Amino acid sequence: MSAPTGEKYVVALDQGTTSSRAVLIDRNGQMVDCVQRPFQQIFPQPGWVEHNPQEILFSQIGSLTELLQRHNLSAGNIDSIGIDNQRETTIVWDPTTGAPIYNAIVWQCRRTADLVGQVCSAPDVRDMVRAKTGLLPDPYFSASKIAWILDHVPGSRERAAAGELLFGTVDTWLVWVLTGGLVHATDVTNASRTMLYNIHEGCWDKDLLALFDIPLAMMPEVRRSSGSFGETSYPGVPAGIPITGVAGDQQAALFGQCCFEPGEAKNTYGTGCFMLLHTGHEARQSTHNLVTTIAASAPQVEGTEYALEGSVFVAGALIQWLRDQLGIIQTAGETEYLAQSVPDTGGVYIVPAFTGLGAPWWKPDARGLICGITRGTTRAHLARAALEALAYQIRDLADAMAADAGSPLGTLNVDGGASANAFLMQFQADLLSCEIRRPQNTETTSLGAAYLAGLATGFWSGTNELRSLRSSDDVFRRQMEPQRVDELLAGWHDAVRRTIR
Ligand code: ADP
Repeated sequence: MSAPTGEKYVVALDQGTTSSRAVLIDRNGQMVDCVQRPFQQIFPQPGWVEHNPQEILFSQIGSLTELLQRHNLSAGNIDSIGIDNQRETTIVWDPTTGAPIYNAIVWQCRRTADLVGQVCSAPDVRDMVRAKTGLLPDPYFSASKIAWILDHVPGSRERAAAGELLFGTVDTWLVWVLTGGLVHATDVTNASRTMLYNIHEGCWDKDLLALFDIPLAMMPEVRRSSGSFGETSYPGVPAGIPITGVAGDQQAALFGQCCFEPGEAKNTYGTGCFMLLHTGHEARQSTHNLVTTIAASAPQVEGTEYALEGSVFVAGALIQWLRDQLGIIQTAGETEYLAQSVPDTGGVYIVPAFTGLGAPWWKPDARGLICGITRGTTRAHLARAALEALAYQIRDLADAMAADAGSPLGTLNVDGGASANAFLMQFQADLLSCEIRRPQNTETTSLGAAYLAGLATGFWSGTNELRSLRSSDDVFRRQMEPQRVDELLAGWHDAVRRTIR
């Protein structure tokens, strides 16, 4: 297939945890094609997760060049490149050779749990981290992963201090390589996930760098998400394509869902759930175990915009568990008609606290339960209770967000694999007092990266145009009586309490 002559596109490089994708997006915001390349997951010890940075790079560049060749596209056809990436994953490399000094330490890796525990043991240190970064101290974020590499690769701390080593999250690594080593930069959304960036002052924080003994000299320059990150200059890739959008995956999805205003939120129903609520120029500090993070902004917006973020550990994974461990369904999609085949769960609740309860409960020792079973309970009741459990967890998160933000959710925009389930979406709308919108194009992460890139070059004129590109959404509104919602919620919270030991 070759492109119509003169036609222009934006390419999103969607660098995920298990694969790298290149996505071709046209002027109407439609996905024209996508090339995906998986790469190896490395588990050196229980709880440790690594990626080979060169493999990330080759999978990403391979997908880009295949996409361009498939459509016979040259640099002239590509307006710009936008990058969205797995967040927090940490790479340190030598800029003279271009070689990483250690594998990428992936966001899921828990190897630095003890280090974070030691460094942040004092309550005033935890409070300082919280106040400056908006995050709860955790090995998930990049700071302790950088410290680990500097502690374990001999001589690296001195070399980093002398400017001989560079740090980057995956966006920074890709930008540096794609620009032929010219640009060492990250964007504000990725910076806000390192636990080293002061989200209020907009700079790498000297106290936090000192806390983890990380030299400032190795840190990338921090730029806005929509703006110049240089041009392609890499063998095999057409030269001179501007890279003008960069954002971490969840913030890219928030942007791709056109959540540009305070009160607009998105939830991704995947293996787990990631929910973000735009809070405008105000960085709200949570009192419900949510984190405050920087949102990606359009170039026209002055200053920094923020979001509250919360996650649910087990969402689609519960549906997988019904399929793979209990064997009561054959496909995830089957749960929809099974749930609709019964009027309710017959009083059954499932609390999927397989690995503890996340926000707002934050009980790592909690374990899951199924309660309310009678002789009449069938797999349809269990399937329904499982889907309802996803929606209850999001209701709890939404309540926490609304309380922290000081205003209720305006709309909830949804995406992710399980958002295809119409029963789940209707039940979610019943539980939340806001409208739920599911766009036709649920590839919101890539779309967000493309939008950020195309806004910077003028390919799209502004956020109004982006909103107008959104093809008609499926909309779900509350149908259930409020009193019934209260009864169901009371049963859910009773079940949740029973999981907390
Ligand atoms: P991830 O990106 O986290 O791998 P996806 O967004 O691809 O996840 O969504 C896959 C998850 O969604 C799986 O856990 C699966 O069980 C669940 N899922 C997919 N389709 C449905 C459906 N129709 N109903 C309920 N759950 C679904």
